[in-house]
Amino acid sequence: MTTEKKPIATTVKKPIRWTLLGIMLPVSAVMTTYAVTEPLPKGLYKAERVSQELPAVFVKSNEVQSSYWTAETVQVGDSLTDVLARAGISEGSIKKALQQSKIDNNLKKLNPGQTVSIRLDSTGDATDIQFFSNDDNGESNLVAIQKVNGQWQASTSEITMKTMPSLRSIVVRTSAQGALAQAGVGIELRESLRDIFSDKVNVDELRPGDQIRLLYNSMYFRGQEMAAGDILAAEVIKGSKTYKAYYYDKGDEGGSYYDERGKSLKHTSAFNVKPVEYTRISSPYGVRMHPVLHTVKMHTGIDYAAPEGTPIRAPADGAVTWKGWKGGYGHTVMLMHANGVETLYGHMSAYAPIGSAVKAGDVIGYVGSTGRSTGPHLHYEARINGQHVNPTTVALPTPKMEQVNMAHFNQQREKSDTMLSAIRNLPITVAQVD
Ligand SMILES: [Zn+2]
Repeated sequence: MTTEKKPIATTVKKPIRWTLLGIMLPVSAVMTTYAVTEPLPKGLYKAERVSQELPAVFVKSNEVQSSYWTAETVQVGDSLTDVLARAGISEGSIKKALQQSKIDNNLKKLNPGQTVSIRLDSTGDATDIQFFSNDDNGESNLVAIQKVNGQWQASTSEITMKTMPSLRSIVVRTSAQGALAQAGVGIELRESLRDIFSDKVNVDELRPGDQIRLLYNSMYFRGQEMAAGDILAAEVIKGSKTYKAYYYDKGDEGGSYYDERGKSLKHTSAFNVKPVEYTRISSPYGVRMHPVLHTVKMHTGIDYAAPEGTPIRAPADGAVTWKGWKGGYGHTVMLMHANGVETLYGHMSAYAPIGSAVKAGDVIGYVGSTGRSTGPHLHYEARINGQHVNPTTVALPTPKMEQVNMAHFNQQREKSDTMLSAIRNLPITVAQVD
């Protein structure tokens, strides 16, 4: 692995950020109106509630700023100190923050592409630092520290995550990826978007003038966007053709993407085998809050509970990129598939005798509880370009839409269309200025 630093994504520069706020404000208000006056059907959003309150950063945008949040993107080889220094925090302040808050070294690990949120006061000094630590067993913790009366400490304010729908509309100027990054669409969402349409249209081949519209859930912690949920709906306009995708979850084992007629967006269906016969999903993908401890965790895969020794099968043809012990994941196998998706199988009790490549359906190992694990289960993870993506939508077979679900799907599709239409005819690009 190279230690050379290269930019992963364009960071939004501060002067641009302020220009964005004025543009984003009215759109946020529109979103809120929909959310409040017309509750969305159950199942479309995984959120417990949709908040009426706008994130602090939007609300304050017309007032004199006494402090503001900035998001710094982690680059390859970065330490937490490197990231904080790039945000303009002095060496002395960084030392003080890390020493006084007593952050465990294990919690300082970062993943390239993720962001660290930093609140700066009017003098440019940091008062709050928030990020998800990159753990090695498929779970990362939200780390939040703040300066109270000059002393850094773990954040004591009540930890609540607010989930709100986010809308983004971009017009491609040079590249779709660049435009999305500039509009604040995180790297995991960008990888998901590319995968959703991979059998229909190549997002990387969009040309100047082509457009993308996105509806997704954002999770806010103390007014700062900390994580994004699944893309709920997306439109890609390439030349005169429009491609649409809608997330639909029948409510049993996670959702998939369908076009406006309820047809699967995947033609080739590279993933046509389930990795394990499981008894239940013991932990889904994504961000969740511990009901008792009030800590926030990000689960980077799906946990399938199954008896010890249950065979684990390759869901698609692939090359074996890892077979061995992998920290908190225990005995682990990783496979790289032809479509660029890498899958990981953690906590195995034993490996099956496999060579350097496997075929879909081949047994690669057996369910166990090795590494940091509380009981026999398969931790199933999917990554694209090293970024965690939801295995349910990326690396599992897409269930066929049944007639019985069609009416419900259409209802949700109409709601999503209404939300997207709020930004469809805006004369300007939303959340993009360059
Ligand atoms: Zn897990």
